[in-house]
Amino acid sequence: MGCDGNRSMVRDRLGIGTEGLGDLVQSMSITLRCDIRDALRGRPLSFAWVRQAGINAFLSWSTDLTSVVLSIEYDPMDADDAVRFTPENCRSLAASCLGMPPDRIEVVDIHPWCLSSWYADSFRKGRVFLAGDAIHSTPPLGGFGANTGIHDVHNLVFKLVSVIKHNAPDSLLDLYEVERGPVVRLAVAQATARLAQRSDVQLPLEALQPVLDEETISMGYRYPILPDAWNVPNPIAVPPRDLHAEPGTRAPHVWLKRGGMRLSSLDLFGDGLVLLAGKDAADWCREAEASCSTRGVPMSCHVVGRDVEDPDAVFLAAYGISASGVVLVRADGFVLWKAVRTEAFRGADFLAALIDSREVRSE
Ligand SMILES: Cc1cc2nc3c(=O)[nH]c(=O)nc-3n(C[C@H](O)[C@H](O)[C@H](O)COP(=O)(O)OP(=O)(O)OC[C@H]3O[C@@H](n4cnc5c(N)ncnc54)[C@H](O)[C@@H]3O)c2cc1C
Repeated sequence: MGCDGNRSMVRDRLGIGTEGLGDLVQSMSITLRCDIRDALRGRPLSFAWVRQAGINAFLSWSTDLTSVVLSIEYDPMDADDAVRFTPENCRSLAASCLGMPPDRIEVVDIHPWCLSSWYADSFRKGRVFLAGDAIHSTPPLGGFGANTGIHDVHNLVFKLVSVIKHNAPDSLLDLYEVERGPVVRLAVAQATARLAQRSDVQLPLEALQPVLDEETISMGYRYPILPDAWNVPNPIAVPPRDLHAEPGTRAPHVWLKRGGMRLSSLDLFGDGLVLLAGKDAADWCREAEASCSTRGVPMSCHVVGRDVEDPDAVFLAAYGISASGVVLVRADGFVLWKAVRTEAFRGADFLAALIDSREVRSE
């Protein structure tokens, strides 16, 4: 796995290119140690833009308000700019941006950084997979960079474990890019749209798309699920509160209880397939479990109201099923298949969903 950042040597060596707007703004990132409580005067801010004569800068800081990163736009081709960032000059620049005396500021690090907007044109070559900034670079607005990278790895590792540990066919790994591609492109486009909205960086018209809220982008996206995996869901993302365990979306969190202990529905996922069911689907589940066990497919089943309690009676509504309904969830917590209600167990339908998922051998 190549997770070596946006200048990924692994990506370059594989000959994988990038698409998108590319490098947009060259910045110098200056890390400072200083107490900025006085400068903030109690205002609950998490970052700030600074506009002064000759200075176009972005300031962000740690939650304890003692560490600050000052990113200043500069032109590496301009000889004056190139010599501007000595430690002493950086201290003066920081003092001017923060409105603080220089002697209360310590310069810890100075390094160039480029604000860019692109995604890789492929996430894999042969046995090598790329993830994180190696396949996407989002402008730092919206907080999507690290989140998107963590989601890439979450998706990829669940597939690798399915193939290596649970004998899923290698073709499951082809779905990494199929699933993550649209989500990555959405995150890059949305961070870029925020940049277009909040800065004076000149961007092409296509960058001016409507801005979706952060929760929708980070938690409300939908993976295309087989057999329609090559059709990108439309819309790709919706507010998570509008999701009720539709296939391809995150299985919702609800508080449950087991053995007197509170647990989240999400704590039930993570190792193989999980079948969550309403209490009237208990017989159906027994058949499904037997069917999986005959075929050597690892699956655990939780009947809500029998194996786990639903103290607030919220499970059925949150998962959008009736008391006889079932929801099949992958190890990464995404819904693979759901039946709003079940009648007699029809093994063929259930197994078709499993085999379609390519998570099991179809021998
Ligand atoms: C100013 C700024 C603000 C940001 N704010 C946010 C935010 O609020 N929320 C958010 O989600 N994201 C934010 N990000 C983005 C976030 O920092 C990145 O998306 C994230 O760090 C990417 O993680 P990564 O592991 O893919 O790559 P990196 O963090 O770049 O890590 C790659 C690692 O690989 C190592 N490496 C590279 N080449 C080699 C090699 N040849 N051999 C061995 N090791 C190698 C590097 O040393 C590095 O440790 C921000 C970024 C910036 C610049």
